[in-house]
Amino acid sequence: MSDELVQSLLAAVDAAPDDVPLRLHLAALLASRGDFPDAIRHAASVLQTDPANADALVLIATSSNRHSGAANESLLPEQESTTNSETDLLAQMAVDLEGVLPPTFIDGDDQLHEIVEVEPAHIRFTDVGGMKEVKERLEAAFLAPLRNPELVKLYGKSLRGGLLLYGPPGCGKTFIARAVAGEMGARFIAVSLAEILDSFVGANERNIHEIFEVARRSAPCVLFLDEVDALGQKRSNLRCSILRGTTTQLLAEMDGVDNANDGVYVLGATNHPWDIDVALRRPGRFDRTLLVLPPDADARKVILRYHLQERPVANIDLGKLAKDTEGYSGADLAYICETAAERALLDSARSGTVRLIEMNDLQAAVRDVRPSTGLWFDIARNVTQFSNSDGTYDDLLAYLRTKGLA
Ligand code: ATP
Repeated sequence: MSDELVQSLLAAVDAAPDDVPLRLHLAALLASRGDFPDAIRHAASVLQTDPANADALVLIATSSNRHSGAANESLLPEQESTTNSETDLLAQMAVDLEGVLPPTFIDGDDQLHEIVEVEPAHIRFTDVGGMKEVKERLEAAFLAPLRNPELVKLYGKSLRGGLLLYGPPGCGKTFIARAVAGEMGARFIAVSLAEILDSFVGANERNIHEIFEVARRSAPCVLFLDEVDALGQKRSNLRCSILRGTTTQLLAEMDGVDNANDGVYVLGATNHPWDIDVALRRPGRFDRTLLVLPPDADARKVILRYHLQERPVANIDLGKLAKDTEGYSGADLAYICETAAERALLDSARSGTVRLIEMNDLQAAVRDVRPSTGLWFDIARNVTQFSNSDGTYDDLLAYLRTKGLA
């Protein structure tokens, strides 16, 4: 790693002091080359802008340990706690953070820069807790055909058409879509349709087209369209004619012409499938749905382990935590880990001695963080009761019954 690189990053940070990804990138580089005090200084500066930033917290904890020479004994069963693994972690972080630097290949529209992020996908199915059925369906829909192009030809199967992930918020729809890209070795582009519509009234068609063009240029890639319901919902209000054009544009882009979409795999997601425009549900479009539910106890264990694996922890009973977090979403669990890390960090800052994250921190966080899926299930129960005559939500109904909610 050259000094020039650090110098140019320092200059860039001076020019854009509030750019969090940039400053984190610099901090990770400094830490990976052993400059722990400066790494801590820059990570701490990130916390001033974004107090719960998980990457900054990890950097501070890891750099403090390395700096003070304290042994970092992690008691998570799968984790090693050697100096080498910390160095690897910092190096990996430096590489990961490169992926969050602003994309450089969209011409023209500055606002699109903020909304369309093209990322290398590092996570795999093994990083995603639970979701056995969802993984199997995704394997059948995307991965198996991709690995067996001859069979695809033989059976005339098409990889066209989108799959729609639906379920309560924070239960891993984006996460599993990112893992599909990771399994494919493809890039990942996530776009929120609600954001596009809010930001670009009057230019929706052009921007939908531009997003697909970015995806085509980035192929192979998974194009993840979040909040697909935004089109349907908004079409029914005053801006109806504008949004009809936008829906038509989206459908045209999904259909593609002359194999233009080769290597572009579209996954949609919504928390409100009942609001989706019927035109988007026709064959060849978002015609297949996949229910993504809150994690069960085993999955919660995997999720908690995933979110603790790069943090300095001691004596964590994952089984007990999993038992105590029935009904929590994956995002709730991630937030619990962040809250616990913040608690240990503040404690360390106050006492001047770095300490590990302990069971107490996590249990206090479980008490502080409430499960966030309740409201969604209230709505879902009504939908299965009053709007399920065609059986669209039978899988949801079956789940509600197993939980005694319907
Ligand atoms: P929303 O509907 O609000 O967009 P979502 O269903 O797309 O939410 P994600 O954004 O994928 O949810 O999940 C939020 C975070 O929760 C993820 O970044 C990840 O940290 C964690 N998470 C959720 N589910 C899992 C899982 N099965 N395994 C590991 N982490 C998970």
